[in-house]
Amino acid sequence: MAGEDAVQAAEQHPEEEQGPKTADGRDGGAQGNAAGGRSVKRYRREELDKEEQNLLVSEDGDDDNAEEYVTLRKRREQEESRLVKLLRGGREGSAERSGSEPPPGDRPKESLLVITARTRKDAGAPNEAQALLEEEADIMRHALQKQALKAVKELATGVTYSRSMETGWKPPLRYRRLPLDLQQQLRDALRIVCDGKDIPPPIPSFADMKLPPAVLRVLSGKGIKKPTQIQMQGLPVALSGRDMIGIASTGSGKTLVFALPMVLIALQEEMRMPLGQNEGPIGMVICPSRELATQTYEIADMYCKALTADRYPEVRAMLCIGGIDPKPMYETIRRGVHAVVATPGRLKDLLHKRRMLLDLCRFLCLDEADRMVDQVGFEDDVRDILSFFRGQRQTLMFSATMPAKIKAFAESALVDPVEVNVGRAGAANMDVIQEVEYVKEEAKLPYLLECLQKTAPPVLIFAENKRDVDAIHEYLLVQGVEAVAVHGDKAQEDRHAGIAQFKAGEKDVLVATDVASKGLDFPDIQHVVNYDMPEEIENYVHRIGRTGRCGKTGVATTFINTKQCSETILLDLKHLLREAKQRVPHFLLALDDPLEAQAELEEKSGVKGCSYCGGLGHRVTNCPKLRSEDKAKVRANKDFFGSGGFGGEM
Ligand code: AMP
Repeated sequence: MAGEDAVQAAEQHPEEEQGPKTADGRDGGAQGNAAGGRSVKRYRREELDKEEQNLLVSEDGDDDNAEEYVTLRKRREQEESRLVKLLRGGREGSAERSGSEPPPGDRPKESLLVITARTRKDAGAPNEAQALLEEEADIMRHALQKQALKAVKELATGVTYSRSMETGWKPPLRYRRLPLDLQQQLRDALRIVCDGKDIPPPIPSFADMKLPPAVLRVLSGKGIKKPTQIQMQGLPVALSGRDMIGIASTGSGKTLVFALPMVLIALQEEMRMPLGQNEGPIGMVICPSRELATQTYEIADMYCKALTADRYPEVRAMLCIGGIDPKPMYETIRRGVHAVVATPGRLKDLLHKRRMLLDLCRFLCLDEADRMVDQVGFEDDVRDILSFFRGQRQTLMFSATMPAKIKAFAESALVDPVEVNVGRAGAANMDVIQEVEYVKEEAKLPYLLECLQKTAPPVLIFAENKRDVDAIHEYLLVQGVEAVAVHGDKAQEDRHAGIAQFKAGEKDVLVATDVASKGLDFPDIQHVVNYDMPEEIENYVHRIGRTGRCGKTGVATTFINTKQCSETILLDLKHLLREAKQRVPHFLLALDDPLEAQAELEEKSGVKGCSYCGGLGHRVTNCPKLRSEDKAKVRANKDFFGSGGFGGEM
């Protein structure tokens, strides 16, 4: 219909709608009505306009549509004069732009590099920050290119587990019914950061965790009344059978989060079907040092004994480390062992000799995983140990710091894990007052003595190398200080005896290398003195974490000698102090800090500092840890090929 109307309207006023035809002048004279008159006037005006335009264009000499014939010679002349004008104008223009700049023809030839850079810039190539971020991503991809942390057999057969283990433990109904946003509010209030699917709710009281009364009695007997943050969230996760990555600062009470579930899961299995001779373990914790393993074993054993005393079926714990008589170990294995706390070396030995099997093992925890990954051969050790498992296990990884490498391992080895993070991974304990002082090398020993006056004992002193530990120990003994020393060259019994004396309060000062900083729990340390700055910031965090544990405050004094410390570690320290709201000494403030200029990188990547080691004072492009690992790899390869034979034997 609309179309028809339009056709009709066009038929009623053909002269108005068909202007161009009328403007032709062919039919125009036949129109004698008023409308026809308007049309003629318009034609005249349009024709005049057109003539005017043609005149203007032909004056410019540029009109392609001009009908007047221009001879070839004239056209050439016109073209020539146009080019001359253009060239002159161009030179004048460029002279105006840059004063003394030579004309383009006289300019020295630009190199290809310069031209490429300019072209990329003109084409909107990514800016410098973007390029740096890409470089960082490349480094990380390279650094983390690892095989998944799984048993070789699992990798070969492609076995993957997709569901978490079942334990039968559930949070009490009222916690399960808590709306998710309220659960999250609770976490936010407690500053617990979680990641993962179906995260069990945090439980802020031990009494609500459905723990056996014997365990509750032990806890209150030790003065442990209220769970710490990692315990509030970590225990429900571990007791539910979920895989877990636990990140908590040292002294936060993380041992309980894996030791207690290990014992309770073993008890449950024992109640279902008692272990026969040579059977077990059901749960296992692997630690990086003998000292830490001993300490964790003592805690596990305490809960085992308390349960047995309360007439539960007997659950046996075993310490499996080198440097001690293996006979009692064999005896426990013969009776059937439920929970093992081990260091990798001795554990591998037992497994390869088939003295112990992991057929029934269904709980595995790697404590201080970040320390273990730094040890040579750790990955192969763990893969080797995993190859003795016969089925799925619940896996937990704990650490105070969480380097990217560990995170990548965790993602490859864990099933649907829950990450529980209390404080930034690698952040210093906020309950420690950190004092950093510039001390000249020759003034260190006398100043150390002065420093010991800052607090009452017990005091821990750390030094990087064994020679310094011995020198400090001797000096303190001469000065009449009750001190003991621990380092890797000392016999295992001496190390044990030293730590026992210090723990019992018989000695006031313990001087140690980093061996003693790896997760050891010395209650009530008042003061940690870093006789020197460790080479990696992670070690600094571990060292000062020996004080200020479980809500108490402590002091950490660090001697700095800028000549001996790398600039990177000093920058890491500066940023760590800032983050922990501590006083930053002027010699750290005065450092040239490239990161301050790289704020854009931080903002774009969302990563503060180094994504590999977690240091805040540098980016991964400049990571000392990564560099030293790469160097070690190169050395290892050289040894292998340079030794003239396979196996590297000289
Ligand atoms: P950890 O971080 O596991 O090495 O624990 C450090 C110290 O804190 C140990 O001496 C524990 O006995 C103690 N501890 C663990 N949990 C708590 C708690 N909830 N309240 C007070 N102290 C605790």
